[in-house]
Amino acid sequence: MWWAAAALEEALREAQRAYPSETGGLLLGWSGQPGMVFISQVIGPGPGASHRATAFSPDAAWQEEQLAYAYELAGRRLQYLGDWHTHPRGTTRLSRTDRATLRHIAEHPDARAERPVMAVLAGGPLWQISVRQQVHGRGGPRPLILEVWKSPSD
Ligand SMILES: [Zn+2]
Repeated sequence: MWWAAAALEEALREAQRAYPSETGGLLLGWSGQPGMVFISQVIGPGPGASHRATAFSPDAAWQEEQLAYAYELAGRRLQYLGDWHTHPRGTTRLSRTDRATLRHIAEHPDARAERPVMAVLAGGPLWQISVRQQVHGRGGPRPLILEVWKSPSD
């Protein structure tokens, strides 16, 4: 899987800004067959989000607006891929809630992501990054190998 450097840096900046509280948001890009994922953009938590040490709740209305705007700019060539969030002072291991969230998204077609992706940024101020993908009916989420996609002009 590939993550555009500018989008990854945006998530890292937000992780550091919210530290030691949790934060997160949405992942946008393109995905094909299982394991083929390109993250080109991230959306943050929004100005009305609330952050605690081990949980956060996003400003969902703001995120919807940002998502609609991103779709419009991309001429709908953009997909919602899943979510990202931080585990400040923690590890990249998924919590029970994280696993339940992934399964829920994978099993509900109205959630817009058939094979949802979950990125976890753990630690701070140095962040470890892991990205997993849930494939419906194939057990637990699978780890993906992260490659960062950066052009010299970024
Ligand atoms: Zn988590």
